[in-house]
Amino acid sequence: MNRFEELGISGNVIKAIAELGFESPTPIQEQAIPVLLKQQSDLVALAQTGTGKTAAFGLPLTQLIDFNRRNVQALILCPTRELCLQITSDLKSYTKFISNAHVTAIYGGSSIDAQAREIRKGSQIVVATPGRMVDMIDRRLVDIKQIRWAVLDEADEMLNMGFQEDLNTILSHTPKDKNVWLFSATMPNEVARIARNYMENPHEITVGNRNQGASNINHLFYVVHARDRYNALKRILDFNPGVYGIVFCRTRAETQEISDSLIRDGYSADALHGDLSQAQRDFVMKRFRAKTIQMLVATDVAARGIDVDDISHVINYNLPDEIESYTHRSGRTARAGKSGTSIVILNMKEYGKIRQLERILGKKFTESKIPTGFDVCEKQLFHLVKKIHDTEVNEKGIEQYLPKIMEELKDLTKEELIKRFITDEFSRFLDYYKNAHDLNISPEVKKERNVNTKRMFVNLGQLDGLDNAKLKQFINNYSKIQPTPVVAADVRHTYSFIEVDESLYEQLRMAMEGAEHNGRPVRMELSARAKRDSSGNNYGGGAHSHGRGKGRGWSAGGGDKKWGRGHSGGRGNFREGRKSSRSYRDKK
Ligand code: AMP
Repeated sequence: MNRFEELGISGNVIKAIAELGFESPTPIQEQAIPVLLKQQSDLVALAQTGTGKTAAFGLPLTQLIDFNRRNVQALILCPTRELCLQITSDLKSYTKFISNAHVTAIYGGSSIDAQAREIRKGSQIVVATPGRMVDMIDRRLVDIKQIRWAVLDEADEMLNMGFQEDLNTILSHTPKDKNVWLFSATMPNEVARIARNYMENPHEITVGNRNQGASNINHLFYVVHARDRYNALKRILDFNPGVYGIVFCRTRAETQEISDSLIRDGYSADALHGDLSQAQRDFVMKRFRAKTIQMLVATDVAARGIDVDDISHVINYNLPDEIESYTHRSGRTARAGKSGTSIVILNMKEYGKIRQLERILGKKFTESKIPTGFDVCEKQLFHLVKKIHDTEVNEKGIEQYLPKIMEELKDLTKEELIKRFITDEFSRFLDYYKNAHDLNISPEVKKERNVNTKRMFVNLGQLDGLDNAKLKQFINNYSKIQPTPVVAADVRHTYSFIEVDESLYEQLRMAMEGAEHNGRPVRMELSARAKRDSSGNNYGGGAHSHGRGKGRGWSAGGGDKKWGRGHSGGRGNFREGRKSSRSYRDKK
């Protein structure tokens, strides 16, 4: 009997998690599973990503749910679409061998009707982001009156993102006698209040991060021109000769492209992404685990679940769209008590996002300079020299050749021998870096790009088929202003915020008058916060400096509590907009 069975998990789930490589429970699983398997089991768990919390609530659900019935019995709420998809995929893996088990993901930016159809097929478990869940309840597309378990995952993040009201609405549609299981990395008053309002004498557990608080991760970032991104990556790899790591890219195509380029340039790398067959992915992973390849170039989705202990570096080829993903990415290193480095390659436009990351994650990011050709050569040389110094001599293997070799080299002094050896081993490298230019951006250029910005609310969001890049492009193209006025966008479910170059703000406002997006009038206004700022009574007054990172937002919308409150006003406003947009669509 393995430990999971002893905790009360049954055979077909044991088989499924064994396939995932779960051999023994993590501390949170060890503590939570027996409690949650009880009839009455309200729980408050303080745990971060990486602790194994998904299985801590997911495995008990697989035991408690009646999979012969085809109604929604468990509702899991989480802050982001990415986490929603991840939890869904994890739960599907756990229930792989349970017939009739049906798990559905409910999130914005994808067809609500298709999701409703999925549920109607007989989902017992629904994993949802709060905004979309409220929409579904409003439209009577889901019935949660009979649920027996409500899981609030990353509760603090949900509140930070302004979902308090939505959570109340959703929970008011659930039965009183359900069990509530709340997971949160921190326990601010707002989270404690939920615990008080919706639970009775909850069992409380606290666990440290599986990666030991992830405090042993060194977060570095490099700022380069967008065109130098790939060269910067190569230089970083060359500067870290013993690197064993993952390069994260945003899309499958980019993943393949970077991997192909690295292989072409002589690096030990391979790609892992969703366009590969399962067999191909298994093959790549086998080679990576065996350290036959040093660098895995991967998408977030493909790298999910990779649990390799010795990863020295995680390199963000560019920042992920969601802050949550950064935590997942960096958590691939410094596992099992080891230390590791998480590197971000940024272009100038993304500079401000680092400060947001620092604030939201509570971690310090150190700006580093891309090593020069000289630095790289020096590092590589000494790596080689050390390797030679530490090489264990294979006496037996070389014995028979040695006399002849000695004879051949007898006229060379030790010094000459070393010089020749190094030249031979190293000249290709030296040649490559001989004229390498400095990839760092000069402080003057950085200052120039550090424009002051104003923050604006826009009544378009993911529901309009937009993401950060698309919204920026739409407004910049529509306005025809040069240089482009929108320096950053933060697209939410039903609305967005943009950071506009302050000097172009008036011009943009006029240019966008009467603008439409897919037939819908575009409404833009100074965000509530920007208005407060310009009246000089908050946050030190004045416009945000994008470069200095005061501009808020970025999806995954962490942020602090002030942000959460300010934002519910925006959401309320937008609700009305959404309704009118619906009627507009209905009329069409
Ligand atoms: P989570 O905290 O749920 O995001 O899980 C972090 C990672 O740990 C995921 O990749 C899981 O697949 C993995 N994991 C969870 N539980 C275990 C376990 N008992 N043994 C090995 N890996 C696990």
